[in-house]
Amino acid sequence: MPATTFLFYRTFLPALSELDDAVVLSFDNKTFLRVYGTNVQGMPEHFIHSGNFFALPYSKRPELRTKERILALQERLVNAKTNGLMTLNVPVSYGLKTPIWQYDTKDRLRALEEGLKAALWAKENAKHPDLLYAGFEIGTYDDAMYIFNKASDVGLTRFAAGFGLFSRFIQFRNEDKLKQFEVLAAFNDVLNERGTIEFHVSGGSALNILELLAYANVSSADGSSAVLAGLAYGSVLTASGRSIRANKLKEWRCDCGFCSEMDKHAALKQLKSSPEARVRHNIRLVRLSEARINEALRENAMAELTERRLLEYNKKELWLCYAMIRKSKSRT
Ligand SMILES: [Zn+2]
Repeated sequence: MPATTFLFYRTFLPALSELDDAVVLSFDNKTFLRVYGTNVQGMPEHFIHSGNFFALPYSKRPELRTKERILALQERLVNAKTNGLMTLNVPVSYGLKTPIWQYDTKDRLRALEEGLKAALWAKENAKHPDLLYAGFEIGTYDDAMYIFNKASDVGLTRFAAGFGLFSRFIQFRNEDKLKQFEVLAAFNDVLNERGTIEFHVSGGSALNILELLAYANVSSADGSSAVLAGLAYGSVLTASGRSIRANKLKEWRCDCGFCSEMDKHAALKQLKSSPEARVRHNIRLVRLSEARINEALRENAMAELTERRLLEYNKKELWLCYAMIRKSKSRT
């Protein structure tokens, strides 16, 4: 069954705790419960990740990121507002110098098999097995077909995969995106055959990718780019999916719920001076995009919306990603 809704989980920030939009938490998050206490009603809905293997402390101490520890800490965070738990995604390597698709097939498949084992272990041992998403790090179409079919054979119906890691290197940026959509094309091929599978995309979900993800039947995604752009890079997102340094802006026009509360000069001043203002604007743009996507899904018009937005984004590699998914959908 194709996805009928699309939900984006942004990085959780305690300073924005009054915003009631969906957030992603790492399995070892300590601030979320401190901020909300026992007020489950006041919490945003959330997805609990298995932790970034490439970030500290896990890149140095992978032993802190075992399937047992991930599940135990995730379960401390589970409540009525929890939508999903991602199981241990096993990387081919903890280094990020070589993109995943350049490793030997046998090494790639060994990592995927370990990920599958971890997902099955979690299914046996979790208090809420219905919340689990089997986590994988996948780099090619063939690997994706292999592991999705195998996972489906053993009764798993919710998958999650990490993406976008090699986009930080300019020489791999385009290929990284194409590989992501190869994997999603494989997911669509398996979905055509098998019927009901949900897919969560972790990372690789910048504003200009969201329509493509929903078009590819991805049911949810998490990403840090809207938050990071505003905080670390001083950037604001534009309606056409670009990211611009706020200190380079000469004028500003934006109808988002944050900027429209003040006049355009005040909004510009805020965006230039305040990281929090930039993040608030960026999050609004992501939510506007998400609402437009859900409307298109309801009206069965996702292809039309995607094409319209891709014209605005004006990036050749995004059209190639679109073509891959369209081809796989036409095999139904
Ligand atoms: Zn705005």
